[in-house]
Amino acid sequence: MLTVGVAMLQGARNEHMYSLRKAAQNLDMEISIRELRKSTDVDGVDAIVLPGGESTAMKIASRSENLYNEIWQRARNDSIPILGTCAGAILLSQQGLIETEIERNAFGRQKDSFQSEIRVSVGNNEKFQGVFIRAPRFLKGSDHPIAWLSDEVVGVREGRIMALTFHPELTEDYRFHEWLLSEANHTN
Ligand code: GLN
Repeated sequence: MLTVGVAMLQGARNEHMYSLRKAAQNLDMEISIRELRKSTDVDGVDAIVLPGGESTAMKIASRSENLYNEIWQRARNDSIPILGTCAGAILLSQQGLIETEIERNAFGRQKDSFQSEIRVSVGNNEKFQGVFIRAPRFLKGSDHPIAWLSDEVVGVREGRIMALTFHPELTEDYRFHEWLLSEANHTN
C-alpha cells in the first residue's frame, strides 16, 4: 500500500487529502495518507504533496522541525514523486528541484485571483478548470510543460516532480492526484 505524505505546515491541506482519496478510488488503489509535520514523518512515504498557501509562512513554520530539509533530501536521494501546487511550486523552484524559475504573486494581488479553463496534458485531454489564487508565474518557457493558460505555461513536470501554479485540489477533477499515485506506484 502506498503512503502519501501531505506537508501540513500551512495552506490548503484537507482539500489535497480529499482529492488523494478520490484519486485512489478512481484508480482502485489503497493508500494511506500521512500528515507531515516534522522531519521524521517523512520516513517511508512514497509520494508527497506540497499544498498552496503562503510560501514564506511555510518556510518559517518548517524551521523548528526541519520538515522541508528532509523532504528535499528524499526528493534528491530517492527521487520520490512530488506534486507541488502554487506555494508548493514556488518552494520546488527555489530549491532547484525544478529548473523552471518562478515569480511569486506575478498576476497581482488577491483581487487578481481568477478561474479560467486551461489545457492540460495529464490523464485525458479534457479542459481543466484552473483556479489561480495570488498565483506565481513561471518565468521562462519550460521544456516540460503539462498545462497551459492560453499560450502561457502554468504547469511543468520535470522527472518525477510536478509543479502547478493553480489549485487542482479546489476542483473535482483528480487527474493530477491520480498522476502522483500512478507515478509512486511504478516503483512499488
Ligand atoms: N502568493 C503565495 C506565495 O507567494 C502563493 C499563493 C498560493 O499558494 N495560492 O507563497
